[in-house]
Amino acid sequence: MANEDLFKKVISHAKEYGYVFASSEIYDGLSAVYDYAQNGVELKKNIREYWWRSMVFMHQNIVGIDASILMHPTTWKASGHVDAFNDPLIDNKDSKKRYRADVLIEDFCEKINKKAQKEIAKAKKRFGESFNEEEFKSTNPRVLGYIKQQKEIIERMASSLEAEDLADVKLLIEELGIADPLTGSKNWTDVKQFNLMFGTKLGASAESAMDLYLRPETAQGIFVNFLNVQKTGRMKIPFGIAQTGKAFRNEIVARQFIFRMREFEQMEMQFFVRPGEEMKWYEYWKETRLKWHHSLGLGEENYRFHDHEKMAHYANAATDIEFNFPFGFKELEGIHSRTDFDLKAHEEHSGKKLQFFDHETNKNYTPYVVETSIGLDRMFLAIFSNSLKTEELEDGSSRVVLKLPAILAPIKAAVLPLVKKDGLPDIAKKIIEDLQWDYNVTYDEKDAVGRRYRRQDAVGTPFCITVDHQTIEDETVTIRNRDTMEQERIKISEISKKLEDTISYKKWLK
Ligand code: ATP
Repeated sequence: MANEDLFKKVISHAKEYGYVFASSEIYDGLSAVYDYAQNGVELKKNIREYWWRSMVFMHQNIVGIDASILMHPTTWKASGHVDAFNDPLIDNKDSKKRYRADVLIEDFCEKINKKAQKEIAKAKKRFGESFNEEEFKSTNPRVLGYIKQQKEIIERMASSLEAEDLADVKLLIEELGIADPLTGSKNWTDVKQFNLMFGTKLGASAESAMDLYLRPETAQGIFVNFLNVQKTGRMKIPFGIAQTGKAFRNEIVARQFIFRMREFEQMEMQFFVRPGEEMKWYEYWKETRLKWHHSLGLGEENYRFHDHEKMAHYANAATDIEFNFPFGFKELEGIHSRTDFDLKAHEEHSGKKLQFFDHETNKNYTPYVVETSIGLDRMFLAIFSNSLKTEELEDGSSRVVLKLPAILAPIKAAVLPLVKKDGLPDIAKKIIEDLQWDYNVTYDEKDAVGRRYRRQDAVGTPFCITVDHQTIEDETVTIRNRDTMEQERIKISEISKKLEDTISYKKWLK
């Protein structure tokens, strides 16, 4: 299936099976704002929990907080967001469409990258087993040319943005002949900076009202609480503070479903370390976070690191974990070495010391910070789009199945009485009453059992438990596996254990 078709399918499946709806849909929706439906809310909650456990439960030196969305406005002055949280935007005069100038250039580079990959794939086919990819990449003139071209473009963009030379960013777009991806027009306006924060007001009367912002990231709620947590939790460096919560950005271009939203949720962890040790921890968190992603089994080939050329104003090293979305490799998570920028800035603006006394070195210092920051909605999209499959079956029919990692599936099991009579529904309901203490389970008695299986496949339910006439005789049921479609007969008393074997955090996170 072409990628574009796959993406359309993802969006319609998400709606049809109760995962994601457009916000205020009866009023034709609100651009780049979405609601999570009955299954979506469960998947989202499970992803959040999977992250939280790996961060907070599995690290004795990481604790969580839940800071508020509204913060003192000086926070955003100190963090640099008031002055520097901008995206360079450019409009196409013919199509009237607005784009991020840096994204247009990065997409252009990705096309060059694809050409290089094509050359490599061709050579691989030609040389077969004796092919040495690394050697080919470093010697083949065509591939070298593509790599050099990409590097030069990205470096020039980074230095122009750094120097705020927006005229050169436009010039670069023109020199590369970049056209509006929707219409092909090359009639561009100048590049302008656009601040992404949403403003709001606190207070009742116009005179006394205070200008506030909806937080554009959750991280600052952690920084301003650094000392509170350190003191009350008696934390010793290195330690981390984790938080999940809503963030708001007035994104310029928001056309990719829940990939880029104006209201979204982040899962962030700030890890406070001794100055000079940040690179060691940066490497540690790169590896740890990639392992977490791999644990879900979506295919290791679908992730890659992308180190930043243009660093945010606070960072001295930064990388993205990119995921192979239906529209190509894009950022899923950011890992940043943020230095002592934030704590120092808050010290300056608040006049309060945000330091740590290290008993081992007998020194007071402002800690350095390594951050891991992942978008919950993007993670949702990565998992959902990767799991949606259409399979051809042996009998010539096909089925649509959402192969979600079982630990994250909204409903863990559906209990189905074969028929609506002979006492089978009562037995099924009894099974539900037992399982619902530990798992989100559902009951379904409508339609033929085959149709019910298909329905659960499409929702992503890992197990279907069917109660039939034999159940009355020997207290056994069939349990059907979503992925293999194999059915097994087990005792009712064994169901819980069977689910536990497949759906335990220990098994998945290990
Ligand atoms: P991008 O370059 O895609 O705009 P970013 O580099 O600005 O993202 P960060 O500020 O590093 O993103 O935020 C951390 C994470 O938050 C991102 O990796 C992404 O998963 C998520 N995120 C950021 N902006 C959005 C958004 N508008 N909608 C959904 N998720 C987002």
